[in-house]
Amino acid sequence: MKILANDGLDIKAVKKFKEEDIEVETNHYDKDELLEVIKDYDILIVRSATKVNKEVIDAAIGTKLKLIVRAGVGLDNIDLKYANEKGIDVRNTPNASSNSVAELVLGHIIGLSRFIPISKVTMSEGAWNKKSYTGVDIYGKTLGIIGFGRIGKALADKATALGMKVIFYDKYIKEDNKYQYHTLNEVLESADYISLHVPATGEPLIGVKEFSLMKDGVFIVNASRGGIIDERALLDMLNTNKVAGAGLDVYIDEPNPNLDICNHPKVSCTPHIGAATAEAQERIGDEIIDIVDEFCKQVKYKVN
Ligand code: NAD
Repeated sequence: MKILANDGLDIKAVKKFKEEDIEVETNHYDKDELLEVIKDYDILIVRSATKVNKEVIDAAIGTKLKLIVRAGVGLDNIDLKYANEKGIDVRNTPNASSNSVAELVLGHIIGLSRFIPISKVTMSEGAWNKKSYTGVDIYGKTLGIIGFGRIGKALADKATALGMKVIFYDKYIKEDNKYQYHTLNEVLESADYISLHVPATGEPLIGVKEFSLMKDGVFIVNASRGGIIDERALLDMLNTNKVAGAGLDVYIDEPNPNLDICNHPKVSCTPHIGAATAEAQERIGDEIIDIVDEFCKQVKYKVN
């Protein structure tokens, strides 16, 4: 059994596989190299960097590759439908990173409210802008969560513990024991902070029209997928003070995001590191071990 972990893998998972005599390659192959080597592996594990498109899947057809694992949640870098059509199973590790993403979002929320990212920039240039940096408390403010799945719910509990009032909108979930569902427009109109936790939608969910419904001076955070916010509209809203601050972990162009956005004084930005904690990576490794164990059992069953 040979695994290619093309975007790396938690060291403990690598060790565990080696103990089970499963070979794990953690070298990164670029697209052309991947097309050559993919035939040598039973399982391909990727994070978000490796794009598993039709070309890559075609190179694997008729070889021993039978499973692709996304070490993370979003499957938008994998042509899931095509892989399944060609008999290749695709799995992800949906639960492992929820807490870590929710904590990062809170970091952006607090950082923006208290000018932490911009203070670092201006102080490193020798400025002492104490009078310009009167922020706002998050205590007592309304947080509108759009997309109330694993991460949205984890964020809701943390924000509540900090004294925020949480409301949510979800396209499919209309009820919750603890939190109040509202329509999208109601959330946009009444939230002081908005955080996005939906899967890639193809089209921006938040554009000029949605921004126009928001409160003046709203804060917005996107740690879901680039493109969920129309970045051009966001820049306009930051420049006209409609939006007081934006916390971004994901971008339309990764790894080369729009620098007008990253350099904007009202933006707190991180390079898609929502799941990049030691604990999340360990949990992802554990989930992958379970997936591979299950796969090995199925393969054995089929052989017998
Ligand atoms: P989830 O599937 O548990 O929750 C997503 C929720 O969004 C679901 O409840 C679904 O009903 C809802 N939804 C779907 N389409 C919607 C729409 N158009 N409008 C409103 N709601 C909609 O997923 P999750 O684990 O909470 O992850 C959410 C997002 O976070 C995903 O896009 C994922 O890729 C992203 N993510 C980012 C990082 C990071 O590093 N920044 C890490 C993990 C996950």
